[in-house]
Amino acid sequence: MASLVLAEHNNSTLSEATARAVTAARHLGEPVHVLIAGSGCGGAADEAVLLQGVDTVVVADDPRYAHMLAEPVAMLILSLASGYASVLAPATANGKNILPRVAALLDVPQISDVTRILSPDHFERPAYAGSVIETVAAPDGKKVLTVRVSAFAPAPSGGAALMVSIPPAADPGLSEFLDETPALSGRPELSSAKIVVAGGRGLHTAENFHHLERIADKLGAAVGASRAAVDAGFAANACQIGQTGQSVAPDLYLALGISGAIQHLAGIKDAKVIVAINKDEEAPIFGIADYGLVADLFQALPELELALGK
Ligand code: FAD
Repeated sequence: MASLVLAEHNNSTLSEATARAVTAARHLGEPVHVLIAGSGCGGAADEAVLLQGVDTVVVADDPRYAHMLAEPVAMLILSLASGYASVLAPATANGKNILPRVAALLDVPQISDVTRILSPDHFERPAYAGSVIETVAAPDGKKVLTVRVSAFAPAPSGGAALMVSIPPAADPGLSEFLDETPALSGRPELSSAKIVVAGGRGLHTAENFHHLERIADKLGAAVGASRAAVDAGFAANACQIGQTGQSVAPDLYLALGISGAIQHLAGIKDAKVIVAINKDEEAPIFGIADYGLVADLFQALPELELALGK
């Protein structure tokens, strides 16, 4: 029996989240297969073949998988599941959408947000916004796991896996792709960015948030936000970091006008260096920041932008 990793990709390239999920799968001690479900996805499959630790890349190339709709992709995984001890996916929007459906169809519990694999049936995962790490034992039978990508290093390239093509599975016909408007920011992907510049309610307006975006662009950084900033309409939903948003693990995290609520901190615990600017010296963010500046953002941001422009 092997472990099957559902790949995250855009058909032509593989997301780094897949390489990280492969590392997690290797801890299960079984051969690792990567499933590329997509349409015109040869480029992504070619990249998966090169990941070290991958034994086989299974490619289902069909228009019905072009947009990773949960219903047809779950049916595809179900059609393959008898050959696998475990099915894993990165805990991304796709993984969180598809794997619970797979678990339900297999009638097994899903273990979500795995941060450490202790054995093939014992896992660590955060609970209560990351303030507790629980160890869970999975019952006998197939394991369905979503993994926190920030907790696992990406598998390096240099492998030479086998590639096999498989036909599509039956489409349950429950969903139809209508439209999507991609955000064409050109910035790095938030979950794997090396630098993240994040803003909170302290920025006060969406206009001020653009100021932060200019600083992010100067640093080649991804843009993140607290939930309060997203709720206030300063930033898009996809920028939210924290318990109910994304987890990030950058080398440098800049928190601008973010108080540091526990639900926000849950998403940045793997950041290496945290720099905070806040006008309140008692703000909890200073409790975890490596560098803190007590200052008014409206003075500090123009100075920072000017300094970065030099
Ligand atoms: P605030 O707490 O209002 O902080 C704003 C900060 O800006 C303050 O510290 C203030 O001193 C500073 N400030 C104001 N003006 C200036 C200025 N001019 N210059 C410098 N600093 C200034 N939150 C998340 O972020 N992510 C989540 O995923 C998340 N999930 C949640 C899930 C649940 C179930 C719940 C209950 C809450 C969740 N929250 C989440 C919300 C969280 O509790 C906080 O409310 C939120 O993080 C606060 O965002 P903030 O720090 O931007 O705002």
